[in-house]
Order: sequence, then structure tokens, then C-alpha cells
Amino acid sequence: MADSWLQYGFSYAPWVLFGLILLVAFIMTRGQKAEPAKIGQTFACAACRRRGSRDQMVTVNREGAVMWYCRECAQPLPEPANSSSR
Ligand SMILES: [Zn+2]
Repeated sequence: MADSWLQYGFSYAPWVLFGLILLVAFIMTRGQKAEPAKIGQTFACAACRRRGSRDQMVTVNREGAVMWYCRECAQPLPEPANSSSR
């Protein structure tokens, strides 16, 4: 009796392993799908409103407010020396 139960268990073991591998693969693919939502976050340029990922943008701290500029707008920084227009 014990031998037949052992054989029964061993005949099912590969299928149980296969199911476990499928389950792990399913969980892993689900975790990978959740990642691009974070990476896809974009920031709009304060000057030209163009959108870019975080490493493409440059932060400029102006009067306590942090503004995001793209690299093209950040290089020729507009100087706040416009006192003559006031
Ligand atoms: Zn820009």
C-alpha cells in the first residue's frame, strides 16, 4: 500500500513543480509590467513645455521654487537682470 502511494506521489511531483514554475514566472512577469509606469513619469519643461524623463531634465532652484527645464532651455539660462523694464 505504501509503495503505491509513493509512486502516486512521485508521478504527480513533476506536475506540481511545473505548476510552481508557472506561478513564479507569472508573478515575475507581473512585477516587470508594473515597472514601466514609474519610468514613464515625465516632467514638463517650464520654458518650452516639452516633456522629458527625469534624467533629461535640469532642476533650477529659483526663489525657493524648483523648476524643471529641458537641457536646451537650461543651457542659455535667462538672466533675471531685467530691471530696466520695471
Ligand atoms: Zn525647454
